[in-house]
Amino acid sequence: MDRYVVFGNPIGHSKSPLIHRLFAEQTGQQLDYSALLAPLDDFIGCAQAFFEHGQGANITVPFKEQAFRLADSLTERAQRAGAVNTLRKGADGRLLGDNTDGAGLVRDLKVNAGVSLQGKRILLLGAGGAVRGALEPLLAEKPLAVVIANRTVEKAELLAHQFADLGPVSAAGFSWLAEPVDLIINATSASLAGELPPISPSLILPGHTVCYDMMYGKEPTPFCRWATEHGAAHVLDGLGMLAEQAAEAFYLWRGVRPDTAPVLAELRRQLASA
Ligand code: NDP
Repeated sequence: MDRYVVFGNPIGHSKSPLIHRLFAEQTGQQLDYSALLAPLDDFIGCAQAFFEHGQGANITVPFKEQAFRLADSLTERAQRAGAVNTLRKGADGRLLGDNTDGAGLVRDLKVNAGVSLQGKRILLLGAGGAVRGALEPLLAEKPLAVVIANRTVEKAELLAHQFADLGPVSAAGFSWLAEPVDLIINATSASLAGELPPISPSLILPGHTVCYDMMYGKEPTPFCRWATEHGAAHVLDGLGMLAEQAAEAFYLWRGVRPDTAPVLAELRRQLASA
């Protein structure tokens, strides 16, 4: 049976084995998918040993940059992201590296939530790996403007510079922002600490602005609570992005696109009862 894994450290919390098992059942694909704890000092050795027999892998924190270097070739979006979350072994044994995180975000927004991105003013909070992965797919949707705001402004400026050839992207500090936007995406890890980036409620036009937190949890995140309190038209968390990036990886490996709706419903059910 074809073998797939998700590499990470830690990895015990990963929902990827459940997601891919449900995708495989739904599409009638015969495959084995498990979680693999790679040693912090030897991801490359661990991945090479796996690919002696394995067909594909997902890669999560903290190995996405190392997976980028391990790949023999890269998709355009992985090249731009500077990080790989999906590896596929070709018939010749060479590894293709892809990054499906940003495509997962865009699909969750457009298809699942019905949020059009074309001509919109988008504010991205954060300038880490998740934003780097999201920029190419977001700019491909032809927004009016994308502003990257980050605690460390220099990191936002560097990203804006690196992606400027793809569309209208600029950088800012949190305190510089005041005008309402159409969509705010929180891609900081502030929610992990129960915190909120220091942004003004004036960024939300009540009943109009959509707010999306890449983070998710059993309870609404601090950012989602803030967005609801200030009248956001639509408040979404990152569970759909998780399911959609997995579906993109599944498609890359198997050539079949699973229906994410029932899988997302099951993830939501399990999260609520956790
Ligand atoms: P990184 O560690 O690469 O970047 C973290 C970012 O958060 C940096 O921009 C950092 O700012 C900022 N930050 C951290 N703490 C705070 C704070 N207290 N206030 C303001 N800004 C803060 O993380 P990633 O980019 O990989 O991930 C970001 C988030 O996205 C995480 O919550 C992660 O779980 C989520 N994610 C969700 C996915 C999904 O499928 N749903 C997929 C990928 C990520 P600075 O540069 O100043 O340090």
